[in-house]
Amino acid sequence: MIVAMQEHASEEQIQHVTERLLELGFKVHRTTGAVQTILAGVGTPTAFDVKDFQVLDGVADAHRISSPYKLAGRGFRPEGTVIRFPNGVTVGNKEVVVMAGPCSVESREQIFAAAEKVKAAGAKFLRGGAFKPRSSPYSFQGMGLEGLKLLREVGDATGLLIISEVMEISQIELMMPYVDVFQVGARNMQNFNLLRELGQVRKPVLLKRGIAATIEELLLSAEYILSGGNYEVMLCERGIRTFETYTRNTMDISAIPVIKKLSHLPILGDPSHGVGLRDKVPAMARAAVAAGADGLLIEVHPNPEKAVSDGAQTLYPEQFAKLMQELRVIAFAVERTIE
Ligand code: PEP
Ligand code: MN
Repeated sequence: MIVAMQEHASEEQIQHVTERLLELGFKVHRTTGAVQTILAGVGTPTAFDVKDFQVLDGVADAHRISSPYKLAGRGFRPEGTVIRFPNGVTVGNKEVVVMAGPCSVESREQIFAAAEKVKAAGAKFLRGGAFKPRSSPYSFQGMGLEGLKLLREVGDATGLLIISEVMEISQIELMMPYVDVFQVGARNMQNFNLLRELGQVRKPVLLKRGIAATIEELLLSAEYILSGGNYEVMLCERGIRTFETYTRNTMDISAIPVIKKLSHLPILGDPSHGVGLRDKVPAMARAAVAAGADGLLIEVHPNPEKAVSDGAQTLYPEQFAKLMQELRVIAFAVERTIE
């Protein structure tokens, strides 16, 4: 941590800041120039708030040098995390992995038809919510256990891996036999009790960025899971809320290269929730791959116009198949692959 004192700060003020740094466990290196003193706190304390220093008397500015997330930071695993699934699929490697399927599991026919289409186009995972976080309590809330059973059945029949959203702690055990990846939705990114519990399981987690979360907050949320001992965490940019109303969210493509640098965890893009409009989804998917995403989460439905949730942002199967072809070209251009 670097604390720059104001010009002509008093010796008493400098001493006070020095003591506070020492109390936290920092070693303090002081440099006093002609007009200003700089205090460099060197060490590994993490549990402090830089703002506590910014407001001390005589302080001009204070900056954190090391990141507040230790396990999610790139430095923890400079080579990057690769998550390996039993069927040989990896996330975080050269291959850009595509997870696709409907927003919600709606029926046996629907989920089997969706699985067949997304598999034929090259997806490695089938997505589908059995528990749905809906803005309105009157909207479809998901098929629950019945939906999970259908997901497992279709996963076993097709060889597709299964990803589905977990909304609360009590669902973890229930979902365990049915899913290959637990998805934590945007609304639960800061459900810290849920994140802690997911730290205890030994199954990968895909953590979506909250609708108004900073990248640092996303990484700190990942830290909750990692600090429990579950290192298999994927992050997902799914659009954030801005002043723009034309699109459902504003997909922050820049988060992808930023997170790549800050963290070793794989980062995926969700262009469906990212933009919310079907005809714009392919462009955002292409952009995410071009920006270095390790994977994509895309909503595809055999009949999007009949979808019970998120139909307007859901691709037709033919649209998805065409998009996959385009993504292969883009992946090649950025030294990645899509099978
Ligand atoms: C979803 O994937 O269907 C979903 C609810 O996503 P998010 O949490 O990003 O809104
Ligand atoms: Mn959805």
